[in-house]
Amino acid sequence: MQVIFLGTSGGIPTARRSLPAIAIKRGGELILFDCGEGTQRQMILAKVGFCRKTRIFITHMHGDHVLGLPGLFQTMSLLDRTERLDIYGPTGIRNFVEAIRQTVRFTLTFPIAVHEIEEGIAYKNQEYEVYATWVDHSIPTLAYALVERERPGKFYPDKARKLGVPEGPLWAKLKQGEEIRLHNGRIIRPDEVVGPPRPGRKIAYSSDTKQTEAVVKLAEKADLLIHEATLDDKLKEKAEEEGHSTAGQAAETAAKAKAKRLFLFHISARYEDPSILLEQASKVFQHVQVAEDLMKVEVPYSE
Ligand SMILES: [Zn+2]
Ligand SMILES: [Zn+2]
Repeated sequence: MQVIFLGTSGGIPTARRSLPAIAIKRGGELILFDCGEGTQRQMILAKVGFCRKTRIFITHMHGDHVLGLPGLFQTMSLLDRTERLDIYGPTGIRNFVEAIRQTVRFTLTFPIAVHEIEEGIAYKNQEYEVYATWVDHSIPTLAYALVERERPGKFYPDKARKLGVPEGPLWAKLKQGEEIRLHNGRIIRPDEVVGPPRPGRKIAYSSDTKQTEAVVKLAEKADLLIHEATLDDKLKEKAEEEGHSTAGQAAETAAKAKAKRLFLFHISARYEDPSILLEQASKVFQHVQVAEDLMKVEVPYSE
């Protein structure tokens, strides 16, 4: 699983940073978190393609997080996308998508399914789920966690051989968690040859929010937490007033959640050099980086 930061600024774009959007490449699928203006151009630079299976999760209806959708629809249509596009977000996203469809003169070549969601499981399949939780911003705003299901435990061929299980279909059954019976009548349980289930990976994304326990809970033991850090700690009061977090607050949330890594995101245009944000955050949480546009981050399995 690979995370690509498409845009990392907040509010206003800068020469160096495009507006908020994150792409996650997982299997053949593309998962987008937010779609700020200019997302499509960043997608071209990141070479993620426009026609693959895609789900877009929008955090809230502020312009810097949604205004990339119209242009994206247009480009996808010009490239003859046929695959359905699924869009998830809080109340308002349906009207917005509908307004684009009604007023912008293009011919959509693919169906769009809009899902207005509340807190809870926004989407799930056999491999992962995306969980949404309300955070604390100036308008209703969701944060998301992509959580993979547990994987089967590790299979130990030596143990199987020692117990007299011949290689072949019986191994496959044990790997799938089924009990088997040998010719001599002996029953072998899967836990005799397979280790305990291994955790999947978890990525938590919280864009605009004040510091909140909701994100601590959402990001518990995440492999990666992407958290907004619009301002630095000296502007704590301003952050509070505007419904944003400081770098130090983002780091406190990561530490409390016992996340493995933290990326600071939604960086105010005032920080041409974001090193003050990194400095403040790393006093609280060691494994922190400032997200940069087009930065790619691999998220490996922990075991
Ligand atoms: Zn924002
Ligand atoms: Zn906002």
